[in-house]
Amino acid sequence: MMAEMRIHFLGATRTVTGSQYLLETDRAKVLIDCGMFQGSPNDVIRNRVPFAYSPNEVDALLLTHAHLDHCGLIPHLSASGFSKPIYAIKGTVDLTRLVLLDSAKLQEEFSQSHQRFAKKNPDRAAIEDEEAMAELAAASNEDPAAATRNATPAAVTELRQPLYTVDQTNTALALFHGIDYGAELQVAPGITATYLDAGHILGSAIIRLRVTDGDQQRTIVFSGDLGRPGSPIIRDPTAVTSADYLLIESTYGGKTHEPQEEAIRMLGEAVKLTGDAKGVLLMPSFAIGRTQEIVYELNRLLSAGTIPHLPLYLDSPMAQKATDVYRAYLDYFDDDARALIAGPNPSIDYPDAIVTNDVKDSLAIEHAARPFMVVASNGMITGGRIVQHVKSLIGDPGMTLLFVGYQGDGTLGANLQQGAKQVRIDGQDLEVKCQVRSISGFSAHSDEPELLAWLGNFTQKPRTTFIVHGDPAAQAAFEPKVRALGFATAVPAWRETVDLV
Ligand SMILES: [Zn+2]
Repeated sequence: MMAEMRIHFLGATRTVTGSQYLLETDRAKVLIDCGMFQGSPNDVIRNRVPFAYSPNEVDALLLTHAHLDHCGLIPHLSASGFSKPIYAIKGTVDLTRLVLLDSAKLQEEFSQSHQRFAKKNPDRAAIEDEEAMAELAAASNEDPAAATRNATPAAVTELRQPLYTVDQTNTALALFHGIDYGAELQVAPGITATYLDAGHILGSAIIRLRVTDGDQQRTIVFSGDLGRPGSPIIRDPTAVTSADYLLIESTYGGKTHEPQEEAIRMLGEAVKLTGDAKGVLLMPSFAIGRTQEIVYELNRLLSAGTIPHLPLYLDSPMAQKATDVYRAYLDYFDDDARALIAGPNPSIDYPDAIVTNDVKDSLAIEHAARPFMVVASNGMITGGRIVQHVKSLIGDPGMTLLFVGYQGDGTLGANLQQGAKQVRIDGQDLEVKCQVRSISGFSAHSDEPELLAWLGNFTQKPRTTFIVHGDPAAQAAFEPKVRALGFATAVPAWRETVDLV
């Protein structure tokens, strides 16, 4: 008889952010991911809901990859009492450092501006605080009215504090242990972990846990975020053939991406058109992953003689630091990337790319001699240097705005992608006269057929396959197809606990 074992679903349930799962046996507690909720206010307030367990009782934290929705609450966890090892692939440790320090800085800045606002507008701030307390209470599943009545001024003040500071982040970063793919290591009494390449971003992992009790053993596989087979630079997701329990992401349930080759062809075409028209090609891009992939593909197209050599501006200090991390882990690259760096231009970089670190240099880009190209962060034009470029060039028919990544609902990027004729940036109404194009084939996630193909590798089917990390519509589309392959499925709710027998 196996000792009791259960899993608590604490995030990325019926939504795509806030990944967090606690595996509990009678001997140990292991947390898999500790991500931030992002997106709508209803989601974001969940970051303030107290942890569902005592952080100081957790034996280890296993991190799948460096995206904020998987690692973003780690400094908060450590500031709340967690002080045990955090295991992640070495490249993930380096990328997570960039992501968390940036997140802490943004939170400190936001908190300061919020406190300045509260000082100047005490009445408005009081209403907002009350609303926030009510949201927090609702998110905590308590009686909102009672919780608001009982809300102490200290709790309200706390909502205006940063979720964590740069100092707290540095303390958390000291807990990280960099590990390699494929090695099985003991992470807690009776529990070992093996990290397999998930092909999502550099250092991303599928985590396989083996829980041993006497001569009994259970295997639990956490897919993490699964990449697309054939993605640039990094390897394909590792095939897994057996598990007793499986958690699988479902971000693109019900969806099929454009083929990768089509995405590359469209990128090349956009560059050629920009060259012929002596225009500007502006590409909003996430700093980690997508920017390196786009630059890599531009470099390949150029090496193959498919595109003219237009000047390329790389306008994101964070992306440059992330590229440095990519360069430090050539052993994670796939065969194509290895072949490229073994060739005459031994680099994943675009030749003579112009890196702009200063804001002054960033602002000067738009006056450069045309044609030229710019890759700037962030990918959905919700912040970062891209915003200024869009603001300056949106009325210019010679500019092509090329989307190479996912645009979240309600973002400026989504608005423009859907054909908005007028947009508001920094309080200014601007007419859209530039060209807008989109490429959907560059995705860091498997689409539905690719997820199903990955599941097809299982020769020993799990007792239960938990479908996580997806919006309700994606999960509703995906679940019957998983069942049709012969898997028993469940779609857990937030804070649901399931006994694993
Ligand atoms: Zn991710």
